[in-house]
Amino acid sequence: MRILLFGCDGQVGWELQRALAPLGEVLAIGRAGRNGLVGDLADGEGIARTVRTVSPEVIVNAAAYTAVDRAESEPELAHAINGRAPGILAREAKATGAWLVHYSTDYVFDGSGEKPWVENDPTSPLNVYGASKLEGEAAIRESGCRHLIFRTSWVYARRGRNFIHTMLRLAQERETLKVVNDQIGAPTGADLIADVTAHAVRAVGSSTEALAGTYHLAARGETSWWAYARLVIDAARSLGAPLQASPETVLAVPSEEFPTSAARPRNSRLATAKLERTFGLALPLWESGVVRTVTEIVQCQANGIHQP
Ligand code: NDP
Repeated sequence: MRILLFGCDGQVGWELQRALAPLGEVLAIGRAGRNGLVGDLADGEGIARTVRTVSPEVIVNAAAYTAVDRAESEPELAHAINGRAPGILAREAKATGAWLVHYSTDYVFDGSGEKPWVENDPTSPLNVYGASKLEGEAAIRESGCRHLIFRTSWVYARRGRNFIHTMLRLAQERETLKVVNDQIGAPTGADLIADVTAHAVRAVGSSTEALAGTYHLAARGETSWWAYARLVIDAARSLGAPLQASPETVLAVPSEEFPTSAARPRNSRLATAKLERTFGLALPLWESGVVRTVTEIVQCQANGIHQP
C-alpha cells in the first residue's frame, strides 16, 4: 500500500509516521516539502501536483492551521488551509479512487448541553478555527471521494506544543496555577489517534466504501482542564519532577477569568461508539495515556534530553 502523509511534523503527523510504517510505503511530507514535492497546504495547485506525482492509494492529511486564537485575526489563512486544501486533496482522491483520511475537531459543535456529541448532531462552531475545520469536512463529503474523517479533541503528545507541556512549564515557574474547570472533554494522545488511524486504514484497504464516513475518536472518559492539570502535576511530582506547584495549588476558575480571542465550547464530549463498533476497537481511559506521556517527558527532562 502506498500512503502519502501531509503534516508529518505535527503531533499527530509525527506519530502517524510510526504507526503507518508497517502498512507499506509511507511518503511523509511536512510544510517545507520534500524532493521537489509541495507539502504546504496554502499552495493548492502544489499539493494537487504532489498527489498526482506520488499516486498514493491512501492520502492522510494531518496538517492543519491549529492556532485557535490567532485564527480569529487570520480567518482567510485558516479557511485556506483547513477548508479549501482538504477539498483539493479530496478532489484528487476522487479522481484516482484513493482514500482520504482527515482529522477534524469537537470545535465544530457549539458546546451546549452535557451529552457526548454523536457524529450526526447539528454543527455550529463558535470560532473561526471550528468554522474552517467544518468547511474542510464539507468539502471532503461533497467531493464524493472515499474518506475517513476523525473528529478528535484536546490532543497532546510528548512532542509538540500542548497543554501538558504548558502545565509542566508553569508548575516549574509558579506555586499557584489557575485553570478553567467549566470546559469538559477528553484529552487524547496523538499516539492513540495514529494507532487507530493505522487500524482503520488497514480495514478499509481490504474493504469497499462501506466503512467510509465520519467518526469521533477520543480517549474514554471525561474531565475538565483543571482536573487534567492536577493529574499532570501529580504524576510529574510523583516521578520527582522539580515543580513549585502541587495538585492542591491548581485553582479552579470559570472560563470568564481567561478571556481568549476565540470562544471555546463548554461541552467537548465526543461519543465514540460508532468508531469502536465499526472497527472493533476499545478506546482506553484518558488518564492512562496522559500519565504515560508525563512520564516520558519528565524522564527526558531528568536526562537532559531536549523536547522538540
Ligand atoms: P499540530 O499543530 O501539532 O500540527 C499541525 C501541523 O500542520 C504542524 O506540523 C504544522 O506545521 C502543519 N501546518 C500548518 N500549516 C500548514 C500548511 N500551510 N501546510 C502544511 N502544513 C501546515 O496539530 P495536531 O497534530 O494536534 O492536529 C492534527 C489534526 O487534529 C488537525 O487536523 C487538527 O485540526 C486536529 N485536532 C487537533 C486538536 C488539538 O488539540 N491539537 C484538537 C482537535 C482536532 P508548523 O508547525 O510549521 O505550523
